[in-house]
This record gives sequence, C-alpha cells and structure tokens, in this order.
Amino acid sequence: MLKENFNKVENHIQKICDRKGIDRSTVTLIAVSKTKPVEMLNEIYDAGCRDFGENKVQELADKYEVMPKDIRWHMIGHLQRNKVKYIIDKVSMIHSVDSLRLAETIEKEAAKKNCDIDILLEVNMAREESKYGVFPEDVYDLLEKISKFPHIHVKGLMTVAPYVDDPEDNRVVFEKMRKLSVDIESKKIDNIIMSVLSMGMTNDYEIALEEGADMVRVGTAIFGERNYH
Ligand SMILES: *Cc1c(COP(=O)(O)O)cnc(C)c1O
Repeated sequence: MLKENFNKVENHIQKICDRKGIDRSTVTLIAVSKTKPVEMLNEIYDAGCRDFGENKVQELADKYEVMPKDIRWHMIGHLQRNKVKYIIDKVSMIHSVDSLRLAETIEKEAAKKNCDIDILLEVNMAREESKYGVFPEDVYDLLEKISKFPHIHVKGLMTVAPYVDDPEDNRVVFEKMRKLSVDIESKKIDNIIMSVLSMGMTNDYEIALEEGADMVRVGTAIFGERNYH
C-alpha cells in the first residue's frame, strides 16, 4: 500500500515535470517519515526511495542506525545547537539553518568530525509568527557570514509555506522564494550557490514544482496521516 502511495506521488511528479518541461532528474522527492516506524520506511526504500526527511534529531539518529547506508537523510526540522553533534556526520543536508549561532555550531562540529556539510537557509517567506526561519531581508547578511565557514556549503533555500485550504494561495510564496534565490545567485557570494529550492509538501507540492522547487518534502501523501500522542 505504501509502495502504491509512493508510486502515485512519483507519477504525479513525472506528470507535472512533463507538463512544465522540467527534467525529472533535477527534482528530488524527499519522503518525510517523521513519527513513522522503520518498517514503513523500508517499504518505500524497496520501492526505490533513497531520500528521507526527519524533523527530530533522536529519531533521525535511531533510524540512521538501522536503515541501509545508501539513504540520504535530510534534517528538515528545527535544530537545537546542543544536538548538532548527533547528526552532523549522518545527514546529507540540513534544510533548517536559520541563525548565525546555529551555523557557528554546525561549523564547529563539522570541523571536529572533519566532514563537510551541505545546508539550506530556512526562510520565513510568509512572515508567520509561529514559524522558524529568517525573514527574506535578513538572508543576505546571514549568508555573507556563513560563507566564511569552510566546512559549510550553502546550497540554497528552504521554506515551510503557510497551511492553506487552497494550495494556489501559496503560489506567491513559492514565486517569491524563487526570485529571492535568483537575486542571491546574482550577487555571486563566495562558497554560496543557489541550486536548491526546498519547498512544497503534500498539499502544495504541485504548485511548488510549477514555481521551481528542486526538492519537495512529502509525508502524508506517502505514509498517511500522522498520530501525535
Ligand atoms: C512534516 C513536514 C513535511 C511534510 O508534511 P506533509 O504535509 O505530511 O507532506 C514537510 N516539511 C517539513 C518541514 C515538515 O515538518
């Protein structure tokens, strides 16, 4: 059943790509597996999924231990500085960097483990009070500072768009993200590239892809609703 869900999302993405003239191989589907047991992750691993997203350090580290080693783990949730050390050498990308202090800690821990780390800056594009992320006008200053860190490579931007009934309402958010990323790219900051836009979830990944998303983070459409106890 999960395989069917996964294939359905895959097919949908292919269709959107065909319609918009996007090369499917440039789009990464991240299966957001938070709160779900490893048996479920293994089902879609067997269907070909290699990119998984988690939002809790402990859960990511636990799953990392028992799952196949060719998986690319994406940290997509708010990251506390004192927990960076538990995942720094396990994740392929941290999507949720939103402060200089967090970046400093990531740099320090990466240096200690002698590894390089790819990150995205999380942008609070819709300026929601309840959301993490930096405001778009603060992105430039932060990028300038992070660009000096030798172990950190900024690959792009991430956003969690507002929860809306009509996903069309988020088109403007995704559009602004793309414009921001193009503008940053044009500034040609050392060690900063803007090759990734991580945006779009179950409700709005179609719109996000149409507006230029390179990574979509899909949980519910693959694994079903989450139960939080
Ligand atoms: C949970 C989560 C998702 C996936 O949300 P769905 O609506 O279940 O697809 C994507 N991104 C982030 C940052 C999340 O925390």
